[in-house]
Amino acid sequence: MSTSANPSSSTVSGGRNGGSRRREKQRGLPKFCRCGEEATIKTSETAKNPGRLFYGCPNGSEGDKYHLFTWTDERVVEEVEDLKCLVSDLEAELSAVKADVAGLEKQVEHSMVMIGIARNRCCTIL
Ligand SMILES: [Zn+2]
Repeated sequence: MSTSANPSSSTVSGGRNGGSRRREKQRGLPKFCRCGEEATIKTSETAKNPGRLFYGCPNGSEGDKYHLFTWTDERVVEEVEDLKCLVSDLEAELSAVKADVAGLEKQVEHSMVMIGIARNRCCTIL
């Protein structure tokens, strides 16, 4: 018996990348190092930046450029900026939804009035 296991490799054809991103670098608070380790907040003990917080990789070391190293304060500023954008987007969406609801409420009110008038007419006619 010849079991020909033929894993038909489906070729991904012309995958769109969903627009061009401005930056490849991750903004905001990092969660993981590129090596897969979870990012941890540490305190700098260098003379240049004493007591300054940074995100680092447990596998990283001073002068190691491969593993994650980024100042926490800079990343927090980015995170806050991004959240501000997100909040203003949500506020805009919320006011649009509120306007929709207000419009629908008016329609419902109008419909109720029309139903009321129709009923009254029925009653007066009958
Ligand atoms: Zn790492």
